[in-house]
Amino acid sequence: MDEVAARLEADKQNAIYLTDFRDKLIHSTTVFANIAHKNAEQCPRTAYLHTGMLTASAGDFRADQRDAARKIFGSASLHAEANEPFVYWVLPDSPAAKAGIEVGDRIVAVGGSSVGPDEKASEHLGTLLRQHGRADHAVTFTLVRGGTPMAVDITPENTCDYAFSVRRSDRVNAFADGSGVAVTTGMLRFVGSEDELALVLGHELAHNTLKHRSAIVQNGVTGGLLGATGALFATGPVGAVIGVGLAIQGATMGVEANSQGFESEADYIGAYYAARAGYNVDDAADLLRRFAVLDPGAIDLRGTSHPSTALRFLALEQTGGEIRDKRLAGAPLLPNPRPGVR
Ligand SMILES: [Zn+2]
Repeated sequence: MDEVAARLEADKQNAIYLTDFRDKLIHSTTVFANIAHKNAEQCPRTAYLHTGMLTASAGDFRADQRDAARKIFGSASLHAEANEPFVYWVLPDSPAAKAGIEVGDRIVAVGGSSVGPDEKASEHLGTLLRQHGRADHAVTFTLVRGGTPMAVDITPENTCDYAFSVRRSDRVNAFADGSGVAVTTGMLRFVGSEDELALVLGHELAHNTLKHRSAIVQNGVTGGLLGATGALFATGPVGAVIGVGLAIQGATMGVEANSQGFESEADYIGAYYAARAGYNVDDAADLLRRFAVLDPGAIDLRGTSHPSTALRFLALEQTGGEIRDKRLAGAPLLPNPRPGVR
């Protein structure tokens, strides 16, 4: 075997994989961050964490992928020894975008406290932001950009404080565990549009804000669809969105609310979350028909853990109409106190 050729090919495949994963992270965290931020007023748990920059650090990746990750997630100008968190995406029109933050910026300190260049740098960054973020308060970020140190003031905005992470799995699934939301790469391939993804993430966020998980734990039902040990990408919180909260390392995200009532409620409230963030719920209902193709057993009108996909489709159409009427009337996009379809 030609060892040099083998190593080059392995590098190439790592780069292809990391690029694909980075793009999936950017796409999904952008939608989730948008929903979490635009629904801050509706969430029982909020914090001034929304900066709009997505960060990762070398410690989030497997050792043999770190060099490639710095280049692909950050920029070619990042030093190989850079272990501080670096910015891999900036949401348009976000506080970070307005402050001029760029992809590849290395974050050295927040509010004067060092982030610390070690395996847990991403986690430290989240903790510091949590300490310093408050209403209308600019936080000073100490950065290194292309070798040049600089200080930039960012005013984080309020957001629903739930972690978001992406799991590498072919299962078409998404999860909520009360403190975080996770989505599989299988689901990200399955959804046909941002509107559909927003509906899925809105649904999971609703499970959290409605505290379905704790209700289920009290009922003693903790069925895990992916299994509690389903691995997060690499070693952990690459999916962490600074601005939404840290991804939960090793947490048990594989829990869905196994109750038809909860599912209907999450569909209804989640559709409003998506709509309030500007997504089109009407066009996304088709997702339910494609779920049915994926899992024809779910069409059965008696339902299983979730209500029948047929009933969910009809309910979602009705919710879409309700939201449309409110938009046309210029009324606030707030769910009705008693959902019409449960
Ligand atoms: Zn659900």
